[in-house]
Amino acid sequence: MGKLDKFKLPLKSLSLGTHVFEFQLDTPWFELMDGPDVQKGKLNAIVRVINTGNLYDLRFELSGGVQVPCDRCLDDMTIEVDQKSQLFVKFGPEFFEESEDMIVVPEREGELNVAWFLYELIVFSIPLKHVHAPGKCNKTMMIKLKKHMAGPKDEEEAEVDFTDEEDFEAADDNDPVSGSAWED
Ligand SMILES: [Zn+2]
Repeated sequence: MGKLDKFKLPLKSLSLGTHVFEFQLDTPWFELMDGPDVQKGKLNAIVRVINTGNLYDLRFELSGGVQVPCDRCLDDMTIEVDQKSQLFVKFGPEFFEESEDMIVVPEREGELNVAWFLYELIVFSIPLKHVHAPGKCNKTMMIKLKKHMAGPKDEEEAEVDFTDEEDFEAADDNDPVSGSAWED
C-alpha cells in the first residue's frame, strides 16, 4: 500500500448520504508530497462526501498552520490556514476536468485520491506576499541580504534603511539579479 493510499476516497462503495473523512497533514506528509511551495506544516483536513446518487459533492475544510520562508528575511514564518472548498465528482469513461469544480473520474476505478487537492488548497490559501510582523524579521539575515543587494554602482541604495519596507521593496524591484537569488 502506498503512503498516500489512505487519501483515496472509495466513492463507488459509499452509500447515499454523507460520509466524513479526516486526515492529519504534518511535515512528513509534506515531504511525501514533495511540492515546491510548502514543505512544513501541521493541519487537520476534513472531507465530507455527500453521495447524491448521480454525483458526489465533496466539501473540504482545512485548519492549522504551515511554515514558509518570509519574503523579507527568508526565515520560516507560520501562516494560519483556515480554508474551505467544494468539488463535484461524477463517474465517466476517463479522467477529465469538466470545469474548475467538477471532475470526472473513471467509473472502473471508482475512487479519487484527494492528496493533491488538499496540497493545492493549502498553497492557494497562502497569501502571495508574506512577511513577518514589523520588527520580527531575522536581523542577522537582513544585514546579510542588505550587503548582498547593495550593488557597488549605487551608493545611495547601500544607505537604505531596511526597517523601511517601501525602500526595501523598491530596491528589490529594481534589481533583477537579486530577485533571482530569492529562488535559491
Ligand atoms: Zn522575516
